Amino acid sequence: MLEQNLGMINERLARAAAKRGISLREITLVAVCKTVPAEQIRHACNLGIRHFGENRVQEALPKIAALPQGLCWHFIGHLQTNKVKQVLGQFSLIQSLDRLKLAYALQQEGEKLKRIVDVLLQVNIGAEESKYGFQVEEVEDALIAVADCPNIRVQGLMAIAPYLPDPEELRPYFRRLYRIFKTIDIPGVEMKFLSMGMTNDFEVAVEEGSNMVRVGTALFGERA
Ligand SMILES: *Cc1c(COP(=O)(O)O)cnc(C)c1O
Repeated sequence: MLEQNLGMINERLARAAAKRGISLREITLVAVCKTVPAEQIRHACNLGIRHFGENRVQEALPKIAALPQGLCWHFIGHLQTNKVKQVLGQFSLIQSLDRLKLAYALQQEGEKLKRIVDVLLQVNIGAEESKYGFQVEEVEDALIAVADCPNIRVQGLMAIAPYLPDPEELRPYFRRLYRIFKTIDIPGVEMKFLSMGMTNDFEVAVEEGSNMVRVGTALFGERA
């Protein structure tokens, strides 16, 4: 089941990548394993998946401890500042830097522990009230502020698209973020990863410039 799902996702990703003239290898697949038991994650691991995404600290930490070392864990949820201590050193990338207060908390803790924290800036591309993240208009100023935090290393941008039944309609949102991704030029800020695309929209996202997709349902099946 998992193996077939992965095969199918890779095929679809490869096709979307080809449309953009890039190869599958240039796209990072983050397997979103929230609610998925550790045993199944281990199975995914045996199939060669190395990047895993979790959105809750409490759920993620025991799984990280139970699985082999050397995997890349991505934090993709809204992170409360009182949990910052627990995530440092556990996740390779915090994809959900969604407010400056969190940046300052990460900076403070990173400095204390002498750690560099890799992050993506989360952008609310649909300007939705229900979603976290910086508004498109705020991105540049936010990046300038975060660039001033010596223990934080910005590696790119992340977005959760609005839910639309037809993913084709998301193209303008993805395209807009890709344009920002390509044009940002701020010292100390790297634009390496553009994390957009989930089960419902990852092909469109890749066609529009994503190089990191976060896929849960299409890989592990419907969540309980
Ligand atoms: C759950 C989640 C995903 C994966 O969603 P699917 O639709 O199951 O692929 C991706 N990104 C974030 C931030 C999530 O919370």
